Amino acid sequence: GSTIGIIGGGQLGRMLAMAAARLGYRTIVLEPQPDCPAAQVANGQITSAYDDPAALAELAAASAIVTYEFENVPVTAAEALAAKVAVYPPARALDVAQDRLSEKTFLNGIGIATAEFRPVDTDEELTAALKTFGGSGILKTRRMGYDGKGQRVFRNMEAGGFAGTCEAMGNVPLILESFVPFEREISVIAARGLDGAVAAYDPAANVHRNGILHTSTLPAGVKVETAEAARTAAATILSALDYVGVIGVEFFVLADGSLLVNEIAPRVHNSGHWTEAACIVSQFEQHIRAVAGLALGSPGRHSDCVMENLIGDDVLRVPTLLAEPDLMLHLYGKAEARPGRKMGHFTRISRRA
Ligand code: ATP
Ligand code: MG
Ligand code: MG
Repeated sequence: GSTIGIIGGGQLGRMLAMAAARLGYRTIVLEPQPDCPAAQVANGQITSAYDDPAALAELAAASAIVTYEFENVPVTAAEALAAKVAVYPPARALDVAQDRLSEKTFLNGIGIATAEFRPVDTDEELTAALKTFGGSGILKTRRMGYDGKGQRVFRNMEAGGFAGTCEAMGNVPLILESFVPFEREISVIAARGLDGAVAAYDPAANVHRNGILHTSTLPAGVKVETAEAARTAAATILSALDYVGVIGVEFFVLADGSLLVNEIAPRVHNSGHWTEAACIVSQFEQHIRAVAGLALGSPGRHSDCVMENLIGDDVLRVPTLLAEPDLMLHLYGKAEARPGRKMGHFTRISRRA
């Protein structure tokens, strides 16, 4: 059998490794953290930094295909690997998605609408940009943000008096986005195979709590045309990137049903965890099928459901949750339940189709 290399050892890598095993593949995980969630279920771990040349050479030698579970894999590492072994999704997807400025520029360039945005590097640029947005906006770090970290909201403020903001944000490149008065947030998980075939799951409606995804609900409660437009946008993005694997696309739904893309994640996505409970082929299996050059499975959904994350002490709810008959539990094997840490999730099946 052949081996799939996975860069990143968190819960997404763990669930990819489990899906790979079911399809008959061995897995090896590159992750500096020993005993990480993915290594607990994979066949092996290379315990090194993601950009360590010796580790990358070892991973390339051990793997028939390499994939990744997080979007901040150094692009140089992905490119170095790609010279020796097939790497999917392509390094270009990482490059585009790692910087919110290049991400939005790319999306607008292929005809996909986003919030308005301005790059910001100084307090003066912030003041000027806020003025053009009527005093409201969300300032974000261009790189490395997740779970709402590295963001600051400005609402109906007079543009002025923002001295020290850029320093407080860490003196890193920033982007100001116009504030989107969305009616709801949805996401589409979609896959593209080696042969160019695309499969998109139903959109989920996502609710965040303290900046972290709290629930994903199916159906999303949007019009059929809105759901179709979201799937089409995801397919357009996949084709434009000559993508192979699963992608997560986050959208804002406006009051009139029109869509703006918030961001894309070139990997399996938290808002797609429901697929393991309500679809024949989960996003994890779909990703392994895609990168391994197998036929994609059906993205069809056999049930309505709600996925909920277990953050920190939420894991104390496990005994109660297990008493529910139509509930699928998934824990990540993390020993310490630190605040804000994703410990697991569950999916409640609410109605069988
Ligand atoms: P993730 O964990 O999904 O990667 P992130 O840190 O990359 O999150 P975003 O997805 O950009 O952050 O933003 C987090 C949340 O903040 C969004 O899901 C949305 O609720 C809100 N938000 C972000 N940008 C805007 C905007 N331009 N207008 C209104 N709300 C926004
Ligand atoms: Mg993000
Ligand atoms: Mg997001």
